[in-house]
Amino acid sequence: MIGRGTAGRISTAVYTITGNDMEEVRFYQRCGSPTESQFRHGRLRPVCTKCGAISFADPKVVVAVIAEMGGKIVMIRRDNEPGRGKWTIPGGFADRGEIVEEAAAREFLEETGLKTEVTGLIGVYSKSEDTNILVVYGSKLVGGELVAGQEAQDVGLFDIESLPPLAFERDVSILKEWQAAKARRRGRA
Ligand SMILES: [Zn+2]
Repeated sequence: MIGRGTAGRISTAVYTITGNDMEEVRFYQRCGSPTESQFRHGRLRPVCTKCGAISFADPKVVVAVIAEMGGKIVMIRRDNEPGRGKWTIPGGFADRGEIVEEAAAREFLEETGLKTEVTGLIGVYSKSEDTNILVVYGSKLVGGELVAGQEAQDVGLFDIESLPPLAFERDVSILKEWQAAKARRRGRA
């Protein structure tokens, strides 16, 4: 079925989890021994008590895609916390080893049923203590059928001037940057 998320995929719910999730690392994954918190490389990190390996809190990459359909922005109403019931630009996690542009198109298809081709980078967004790095692309639609995926309560089309209640206020400035990039492209054409 077009547009349904793949069963068992990690949810997009940790879009903006904050704080040091490494406090939860009590065992080193490779050898299974307990960790203890030690000051290493500038901060407290979980260190394996048996082999001394440090668990580094690497960021995760979240990709989001802006696409227009009939002059309106394609958005989804989230079915996960944070921001459950509110709207956002479609997106999700890139897998390790996955080409980021392909992850963007895959997540967009899973959430909206629409096929896109990424046309350009809008921006890379990070905040202090945010475990995720958000990468946003502009895109053009190339096919598919608008239908909400498993992690969306709904899909909708919105004017940038009349956006629905947003899960992430950051979307407002991202959409403005996308609009400015579009105007610059038009100016060059
Ligand atoms: Zn160990």
